[in-house]
Amino acid sequence: MSENGSRLPPDYHTHTELCGHAEGRPADYLRQSLKLHMEQMAATDHCPTPHGYDPENRMSMEDFERYREWVVEAQSAEKQQLLFGVEADFYAGCVSFQDEFLHTHPLDIVLGSVHYQSFWATDKAEQTLFDKDELIPIYRRYYKLVALMAECGLYDVVAHFDLPKKNGRKLPDEEQRKFVLPTLDRIARAGMAIEINTSGLRDKVGEIYPSPQILSWAHEREIPITFGSNAHSPGQVGADFDQAVALAREVGYTHYNSYADRIANPVPLNGADGPSASATST
Ligand SMILES: [Zn+2]
Ligand SMILES: [Zn+2]
Repeated sequence: MSENGSRLPPDYHTHTELCGHAEGRPADYLRQSLKLHMEQMAATDHCPTPHGYDPENRMSMEDFERYREWVVEAQSAEKQQLLFGVEADFYAGCVSFQDEFLHTHPLDIVLGSVHYQSFWATDKAEQTLFDKDELIPIYRRYYKLVALMAECGLYDVVAHFDLPKKNGRKLPDEEQRKFVLPTLDRIARAGMAIEINTSGLRDKVGEIYPSPQILSWAHEREIPITFGSNAHSPGQVGADFDQAVALAREVGYTHYNSYADRIANPVPLNGADGPSASATST
């Protein structure tokens, strides 16, 4: 353990006002990370798509250049490191566009997300449907998409792994094992990391993504981790990272992945200046 034992790991999941449902620019988030003595963070706003997929929740293709400029400005203005990233959605028909787009731009990190719409429902009728009939099919479909996402090889980190629990509807244990274990096996084979995302503590479920059980299965498979607040306002940078780090340690993690130019490098938890490159433990 280094003398910087209390240092927070980098926040690799933050948004900007360009997505239409968040506040602030990368420089605002970066200043907050500086206050928290984070050495590094990533801007990972929702990636634009050309397919008319969920345009309300992402920047337009035209705005992407502005996003890039904001990141570059912030990189030169502040002394800690800001990674240029995106949170990209995996959905039917996205692969050929993203294969081109994600390789055209000089990204440091790409989060891969499945934002399957049914579990966002908040109106009463849809909640009832979700409760009684749709829970298992929704999760089955969700995890199938997450596994396909891993295997398409376009992304670095699986974001908010068990997101369908967002509104508090969790899978029964038996189904959880049945759907999650093969998905984690496929993620491990694909060489992706998963993030410990603290936004679940702010959602109705009140639990980090993923759950302690799922994170411990991920650790058994030596799947590397990152940390993300999913900040949609600058004040949320690093939110509840003490709990996230405690959870990671509890299930046995000793390292997290840092990224640059989309290359992963393991870093010891609680201290970035120990020997790291040769470490094999995640
Ligand atoms: Zn968002
Ligand atoms: Zn997301």
